[in-house]
Amino acid sequence: MVDVDLDTVRELVVARERADLAALTGSAAVLAGGTWLLSEPQDHIERLVDITALGWPTLTVTDAGLEIAATCTLAEFDTAATPAEWPAAELFPLACRALLASHKIRRTATVGGNICLALPAGAVLAVLTALDAEALLWHGDTERRIPLSRFVLGPGRIDLRPGEVLRSVHIEAAKMRSRTAFRKIALAPQGRSGAVVMGRADVDGHCAITLSAATTRPIGLEFARVPTDGELRATILDLPRELWFDDPHGTPAWRRHVCTVLAADVLAELREARP
Ligand SMILES: Cc1cc2nc3c(=O)[nH]c(=O)nc-3n(C[C@H](O)[C@H](O)[C@H](O)COP(=O)(O)OP(=O)(O)OC[C@H]3O[C@@H](n4cnc5c(N)ncnc54)[C@H](O)[C@@H]3O)c2cc1C
Repeated sequence: MVDVDLDTVRELVVARERADLAALTGSAAVLAGGTWLLSEPQDHIERLVDITALGWPTLTVTDAGLEIAATCTLAEFDTAATPAEWPAAELFPLACRALLASHKIRRTATVGGNICLALPAGAVLAVLTALDAEALLWHGDTERRIPLSRFVLGPGRIDLRPGEVLRSVHIEAAKMRSRTAFRKIALAPQGRSGAVVMGRADVDGHCAITLSAATTRPIGLEFARVPTDGELRATILDLPRELWFDDPHGTPAWRRHVCTVLAADVLAELREARP
């Protein structure tokens, strides 16, 4: 049981089965690991619905792909045991290292919480978007699916409707078989990431480059094949100005520039790794 010292909260509901999620009405909010939710005032919240006792299987491997429960902790995601023919799982620990958080936070914070916070520095969100993951959302007895790339709208903004809860994310097996590359940069050696660029080369030749931390939300750039350095650079430089994030961890101009440098590195690695 968590200690809640948010003084507007009157009730803590520990959900043990799906029907208990009906408590998500009015001024109620989902409580997952609570590493962010319990860390600052939440004056609009009167009821918390703890989803960590629902017993959702953390990571489920099937022929179709990988299902990751929203309640999977970052530590469990970091050490996920996945089939050897899924090299894209190499991104999971890299995402966890890119997050500026202690071991205690990693053991408690969840994948779902990282997605729903939708911070530009949400490295787990970024990796899952780079792997084209799809979110499964529950609302009562109904559900809907939406690609993460459309679920996250901007910093702290997601397409979560009243009463909905993020149940899990799914990555197709074909995407898990992709070759990947990951580069990040921060202003300080242990600082929060200023830019993260990931590349994914699919078995069918398709290539996706994802920019994050530098941008207000993860931005996926799709190509029919691994692009040339010039093509990718031009695509990045053409992105709308308002997509570049501005905070003490980097100016928009710096972030735009370092993304072109990291992207060239990512392409070089994807070409090297070609079988
Ligand atoms: C020291 C420290 C460092 C941090 N560093 C980073 C960082 O580098 N990058 C980063 O992105 N974050 C960072 N965080 C923020 C946060 O800890 C993580 O994003 C974490 O993954 C959130 O997960 P949680 O389970 O604790 O979410 P919670 O705090 O429980 O919830 C976060 C939000 O998501 C909602 N939510 C959670 N799960 C669901 C769900 N399944 N369905 C619907 N809504 C849901 C909650 O209602 C709440 O609004 C940091 C926090 C701390 C304390």
